[in-house]
Amino acid sequence: MEDKLMLMIPGPTPVPEQVLLAMAKHPIGHRSGDFSKIMAEVTENLKWLHQTKNDVLSLTVSGTGAMEAAIINFLSPGDRVLVGSNGKFGERWVEVAKAYGLNVDTIAAEWGQTLNPEKFRESLEHDTNKAIKAVIVTHSETSTGVLNDLETINRAVKAHGEALIIVDTVTSLGAYNVPVDAWGLDVVASGSQKGYMVPPGLGFVTVNARAWQAYTTAKLPRYYLDLGKYRKDAAKNTTPFTPPVNMFFALQVALRMMQAEGLENIFARHQRLSAATRAAVKALGMPLLAPDTAASPAITSVIPDRVDAEQIRAVMKKRFDIILAGGQDHLKGKIFRIGHLGFVSDRDILTAIGALEATLQELGYEGFTAGAGVAAAAKVIATM
Ligand SMILES: *Cc1c(COP(=O)(O)O)cnc(C)c1O
Repeated sequence: MEDKLMLMIPGPTPVPEQVLLAMAKHPIGHRSGDFSKIMAEVTENLKWLHQTKNDVLSLTVSGTGAMEAAIINFLSPGDRVLVGSNGKFGERWVEVAKAYGLNVDTIAAEWGQTLNPEKFRESLEHDTNKAIKAVIVTHSETSTGVLNDLETINRAVKAHGEALIIVDTVTSLGAYNVPVDAWGLDVVASGSQKGYMVPPGLGFVTVNARAWQAYTTAKLPRYYLDLGKYRKDAAKNTTPFTPPVNMFFALQVALRMMQAEGLENIFARHQRLSAATRAAVKALGMPLLAPDTAASPAITSVIPDRVDAEQIRAVMKKRFDIILAGGQDHLKGKIFRIGHLGFVSDRDILTAIGALEATLQELGYEGFTAGAGVAAAAKVIATM
């Protein structure tokens, strides 16, 4: 049915009507006082969202552009880096680092498992001559729905004392507690189409004093993504190159909505959405890819072992206008993923689970009692 589309993928995520309407205006000049006023407010509120007093720089890129910026501004060719890889986005970090000629050591785990913080601790402890210049990790691994233990990995990095910690928080920021200053995260990258409730088009990078120190000696080539330029212009509430000004209109409204909800409530909501989704899937007799102890607040991966994952996605779309994500790479066809990130409410989960039950019935899957998924989700929602 037209205009009934429900996007339940881990990005782009749904956008509130008031945010969409804020964009439906003529662009304004990015050197104008009006734009500076918006940028000043947006920058303040981005700092609030990141729980930081450091710089939060806005770039006209997707999340991968923010990741690239997080590498090229702080490292030099041949630098040794330790990269965590337990999914598609961990692999992307490895690819970006290699593309720029870094000397990459990978700490890997199976897709669906968490990165083992102990392995980071060991590698960093053995590095007595401090050759490791950065530890690079994905917090919420979107391809599997696994939340890595950033806090513990970061503690090992801090004990090392020399390496920077560079983090992809693309599907954790705005869904899970990422206290940038309290944890001393040096560089943190994210993207607008995930937890921010705005469309794709902006990437964000936080940079602390330690990372700016590394910036002064970093020798990888940089131009468009030279964060020093963005920092200098941010001081005047503008950007070095033309920003997507309408995206700033959107972000202004979205961040006000987030402030009205409050960080604690935002995190609690995502926790509840994740728990309700997982309880429902279990009640339907389908295994989950990520363990309960490391469930991403943004995305739940389901292994529908007795029904074809792509068929489920096709029926959900055709009959219910609900878009679920498929598996990536070797998980394609083996899993489907339910996104619950950003502008998603309890009602959306009840709807999605109800539709999933109807889809499973249509596909002849009989491994559950009708209503069991909805009942399990409702129970979590009522009590959390
Ligand atoms: C979406 C995503 C990215 C960025 O992808 P883009 O398509 O470049 O926006 C990076 N990391 C994670 C974990 C993501 O979910």
